[in-house]
Amino acid sequence: MLAINGGTPVRNKFLPYGKQVIDEDDIKSVVNILNGDYLTTGPTVSEFEKKVADYVGSKYAVAVSNGTAALHIACLSAGIKEDDEVITTPMTFAASANCILYCGAKPVFVDIDKETYNIDVNEIEKKITHKTKAIIPVHFTGQSVDLDPILELAKKYNLIVIEDAAHALGTKYKGKFIGSISDMTEFSFHPVKTVTTAEGGIITTNRKDLYEKLILFRTHGITRNTEFMENKDEGPWYYEQIDLGYNYRITDLQCALGITQMDKLDGFIKRRKELVGMYNEYLSKIDGVIIQKEGEFSDTSRHLYIMKLDLDKFKVGRKEIFEALFAENIGVNVHYLPVYLHPYYKNLDYKKGLCPNAEELYNSMITLPLYPGMSNDDFYDVINAVNKVLGYYRK
Ligand SMILES: *Cc1c(COP(=O)(O)O)cnc(C)c1O
Repeated sequence: MLAINGGTPVRNKFLPYGKQVIDEDDIKSVVNILNGDYLTTGPTVSEFEKKVADYVGSKYAVAVSNGTAALHIACLSAGIKEDDEVITTPMTFAASANCILYCGAKPVFVDIDKETYNIDVNEIEKKITHKTKAIIPVHFTGQSVDLDPILELAKKYNLIVIEDAAHALGTKYKGKFIGSISDMTEFSFHPVKTVTTAEGGIITTNRKDLYEKLILFRTHGITRNTEFMENKDEGPWYYEQIDLGYNYRITDLQCALGITQMDKLDGFIKRRKELVGMYNEYLSKIDGVIIQKEGEFSDTSRHLYIMKLDLDKFKVGRKEIFEALFAENIGVNVHYLPVYLHPYYKNLDYKKGLCPNAEELYNSMITLPLYPGMSNDDFYDVINAVNKVLGYYRK
């Protein structure tokens, strides 16, 4: 596609919307494992788990093959099963709701707040029934959901809270790190997320009973803990499968990468915050651009930067503006189509119009590039491209 008027694009090299930062120490750390004794199920896995648990301030952490697997075993450990209902937001990656379906339960979508884009905590109680088992709030873009009202509802109705914090490693809610607060919290280490293990995920919890279930579901439902065994005196070789679990293990190679990445987390967060501050400053001056509202309770490690458009001010729709920015070699994206509008979910009988705020946001949003390796020059290229494209199409 050609840039506006067939002219020269703002950038000649494509700028992705997100990208990992890998340094020499990350490479050394992985090579070290390749030269060692354990490629998987070794000591580096627990070392990584401890590092994440210590950072967020949780008692336990269970690392697994990816964030989706983490959500799946969190749901299993919460005892979610057929005919249960679980409340979540539609403005998220499909995994936040798929994990509910994996357990045979029904995702119940609660609309988002128009300004923060997180689940509207005032709408949750209306959707609670005698079948509701859990709530999965998602810290969308990295901004913390207002957790206190959710924790109150959980107490009142005896529900489990599983936070989907795939976007929110390093975010604090009222001064406490996300991952230390509710029953279970999931993080993802996919390369676009805050730190990476290539593929990987983790669940943090303060509850020993849930921790024990999580490690069981990670490895086939197999235990070597005689406390849980039927035949306790069989012999030292002996293990038992006591539930139906999976092989969701993560490797020592991945965890070694995770450990050196965690050392850089504070630096990554600092740079993300700087870029978000710059975006807010520049974009707030552009007519037709709406900025995501930040709840005062959230100290946000931002994963995604969303530019919402007041489409009445432009001659064309979101699609044309998106394509024009892409033609300037800016790696724009859209996060997300409300989950229930995917064909698979529509076939489960979810209907358009279910969550109007989420649908309205989807129709008017564009995700701009944001990652710690982005230079100031990269940033100004984005601003120049946005000014160029929005200026061209403004009414
Ligand atoms: C990335 C992500 C996940 C988990 O993804 P994996 O790729 O399986 O690690 C879950 N929820 C949200 C909101 C995500 O963005």
